[in-house]
Amino acid sequence: MRETKCEHSGFCTNGELEKCNYCGNTLNQAFLEERESLKNIRV
Ligand SMILES: [Zn+2]
Repeated sequence: MRETKCEHSGFCTNGELEKCNYCGNTLNQAFLEERESLKNIRV
């Protein structure tokens, strides 16, 4: 299991999930937003 530290609650949670097991906020939001912006540039 890949662990990711939640930026919102500070707990380590399953990084393979989209949302934190503890607080339910989106994980890796900065990464996802960057990916979205790259997608827009390509179009
Ligand atoms: Zn959290």
